[in-house]
Parts: sequence; structure tokens; C-alpha cells
Amino acid sequence: MIKRKKTNKRKTASIFFMVWAAFALFALAIVTVFGLSQKSLVSKTYKENIAKDVTKSGSNIHKELLIYEESGGTDFNRFLISKAMNFDVVAVVLTGDGQVLFPEWIDGEDVPEFKDRMKTLKGKVKDEKSGVVYEGDGEYVYGALIDKKADTYLYVYKTLELSSSVLRELGVRLALTSVFVFLLSFAAAGSISGLLTKPVAEMTQKAKLLAGGDFSVDFKGQAYGSEIYELAETLNFARDEISKADQMQKELIANVSHDFKTPLTMIKAYASMIREISGEIPEKRNKHAQVIIEESDRLASLVSDVLDLSKIRSGIDGLKTEEFDLSEYLFATLEKFGYLSETQGYEFVLDVDDELFTRADYNKIGQVLYNLIGNAVNYTGEDKKVFVSLKKSGSVCKFSVTDTGKGIKPEERAEIWDRYYRTKETHQRPVKGTGLGLSIVKAVLQEHRFRFGVESEEGKGSTFYVLFPLLEE
Ligand code: ADP
Repeated sequence: MIKRKKTNKRKTASIFFMVWAAFALFALAIVTVFGLSQKSLVSKTYKENIAKDVTKSGSNIHKELLIYEESGGTDFNRFLISKAMNFDVVAVVLTGDGQVLFPEWIDGEDVPEFKDRMKTLKGKVKDEKSGVVYEGDGEYVYGALIDKKADTYLYVYKTLELSSSVLRELGVRLALTSVFVFLLSFAAAGSISGLLTKPVAEMTQKAKLLAGGDFSVDFKGQAYGSEIYELAETLNFARDEISKADQMQKELIANVSHDFKTPLTMIKAYASMIREISGEIPEKRNKHAQVIIEESDRLASLVSDVLDLSKIRSGIDGLKTEEFDLSEYLFATLEKFGYLSETQGYEFVLDVDDELFTRADYNKIGQVLYNLIGNAVNYTGEDKKVFVSLKKSGSVCKFSVTDTGKGIKPEERAEIWDRYYRTKETHQRPVKGTGLGLSIVKAVLQEHRFRFGVESEEGKGSTFYVLFPLLEE
């Protein structure tokens, strides 16, 4: 069972808050930009409208004034006031030096700025026919020469300043837009964070079940977009791996305890036999005692393999690397198998380059070499041949050990490294194995990050190899 590690809960903001904050900032930026651009946009359109307005009203008033004059009209006061009201502009008739003639209630003497206005108009106007349109100082003007002799001018204008009502209107609109945008960002943040957190919450729930040892959980993410789908797939992969590791662990414990029990039962049985039957008969007693010794040896090597494996896997020991001559070390290891050539006719065919130095954990690599050669001896064919080679190849040297045995089925090639695994058939083996040899090899080589592997052809044999890094000479 995988235990859940207690983690210190760090306070982090919720996804909803983060999305909302992002949206609110975004909205604020939009509203500010909108507000600023709105003001300049409104004043621009306002100006354009006034320009159009003044052009139109000015030329109308101009035309109508001429008609009114021709038709003998004399009440210019009324005429101008009513036209000004109609067109919503200011319309005056001025003399060439800036005195207001009509409407009469404007006291020409008291409006000195008309003098300057008149100067500008005079500079622009050419004849009596057509009026001129231009932007004056803060106002838009339609000006025309009415009577050259009398030196009278029509001056129609409208101020360009934004009226306070327009500004107020703008302010209200901006406030409303801000409120609307904030509400919208709140709603959008809600639905987006909902979309994001739903699958996360679902997965957290399932991951908790997984942590509790339920390997039937299925992480689903298809409905939530490719990233979440990828996460779900990764979690499913992790689930399968954890499940495999868990299964292996269980198998290991089951098999190891079984293998512990067998020699213990034998030891107990033979000890009882010595006590009850063979104690007095030296020949039998020795035989039985020998069984006890052999079974104790088996037990001892099993215990030491289990300990080795668990130490390597948990990384308790760490790697104690040193430089050494791999060729020399290989010869020394092969010497341990010398008795097999002498007594059982095994033949070791060697092809080993001299003085190949590497850096690694001396003892652990010794175990690797011993286990791989031991397996080749155990599983080689009837010719009892084992080929051992150590060859330099660029920056690495390749150790390989080949037997002439039955080979390993493709479907078993991956399993032999991981499991407390043995192919079904049992046969007499010259080198004692505990079933953990390759697991130790794998753990050691992975700890070193060395490349290794197996090539095998059914019926012909197998080659196990390891690539050791070579030290610069
Ligand atoms: P043991 O050899 O003690 O059973 P190992 O972990 O060394 O345990 O090997 C695991 C299994 O891998 C062996 O039981 C055997 O089935 C297979 N195996 C290992 N080496 C070879 C080999 N050279 N040829 C064929 N099968 C092998």
C-alpha cells in the first residue's frame, strides 16, 4: 500500500480568485482605455458635427438673408434672432471694424473681441457671393460679405467647447460600462474557473482513491481539452506503473516468504530427524546435517540478496565509486567459477581487452559480473560453453556474456529484470540463484546510469551486456 505523505499545506489563492483578478485587471485596463479614447472620440465627432452644422446653417441664413433683403425686409433683428433660434447658432451682422449691427441688443462697443474676429474674417472673405467656413478661436464660423459698399458682414458661429451635459452623459456611460464589464468579468471568471477546476477537483478525488490503493480508478479528461486530457493520460500511466510496482512488491513478498519457508521447513525436519533417528548413526547424521548446512546457506544467500536489493532500491548505501581496472576485476570474478571448469567441464571462452579502467562502485559491479556469468553458466546448453567478452568501443567498453542455452522468450525478456521471476521449468543449476540476481543487476546498473540489456535467440542462447564508461588514459 502506498502511503500518503503529509505535506505542509501552503496557502495559495484559488483558481477562481486568480482568474477573477486577471479578468478584473483586464477589464480595468479596457475601461480606462475606452474612457480615454471615448473622450477624444466624442470631442472629435462633436467638432465634426458642429462644422457641418455651422456650414449648413450659415449658408442657409446667408441665402435667406439676401432674399429677405431683396424682398424689402427691414426687421433684421427679428430675422436674425429667429434664424439663430431655428438653427441653434449665434448669428450676427457686423461692420467691417467689428461693430455689431444686428441683433441690436448686442452692444457693439461692449464686445471688443468682434474686432479681432472681423480681422480674421476679412482676411478670408473675397466677394459677396460665397461665404467662408473656418475654425476660429474655440468656435466654428461661417462668414460672408453682405454688402461691400456698406461694409457689412454676416457672422454665424457655434462654440466648439463640449457642453457639460455631454460630459455628464459621457461620465454616466463610462460608469455603466465599467459596472457592466466588471459583472461580465465576474461571470466569465466564474465559468472559466469552473471549467478549469471541475476536472482538477475530479482528478484530485480520484488521485486520493489511488493513493489509498484503489488501482481501478480511471482518469478521464477528454471532455476538457487536450491539456487536461494529457494530464489524465499521464495519471493513468502513473496508475498503471504504481499498480505494477505494487503487484511486483506483493509477488516478491509472497515468493520470498515462500522461499524462506522451504529451507526453514527442511532445517526443522532434518534437525528433528537427527534428534530422533539419526543422532546415533554417524553416517546418516552427517548426511542430515549436510542438508541443514546447505539449506541454511540457501537461506543466508536469500536473506543477503533481499537485503542487497532493498538497500539499493531505497538508495541507503549510495554509490561508493572508485577507479579500477575492469579487465582485471573480470578475471578475478571468473576465477570464482574456475572450479566449474575443473570439476564439471564448463568451458569459458574469453575475449577480454587489457587495462580497461572505469569508475564505479567496485563491490556492486562485482555482484553484477558474478550474477550475469552465474546465470550464463546456469542456463547454457549441453556444450557447457560460456562466452565472456570485454571490448573497448569508443568511449565505453562493452562487457557481454553469452550462453548457448534455450534463450529467453521475447515476452519474458522484459519481465526477467523486474520480478522475482523464474521460468517455470526447474533444472539442476550449478550456481545457486535466489531468483533476485537480475533484479539486483538492474538496480545496480540503473543506480550507475549504465546502459545494459539482453539479446536472445530462442534455441540458440542469450547475451547479456553492460556498457561501462571508460576513463581517459
Ligand atoms: P535466478 O537465476 O536465480 O532464477 P535471476 O534474477 O538471475 O534469478 O534470473 C531471473 C530469471 O531470468 C531466471 O529464472 C531465468 O528464467 C531467466 N534468465 C536469467 N539469465 C538467463 C540466461 N542466461 N538464459 C536464459 N534465461 C535466463
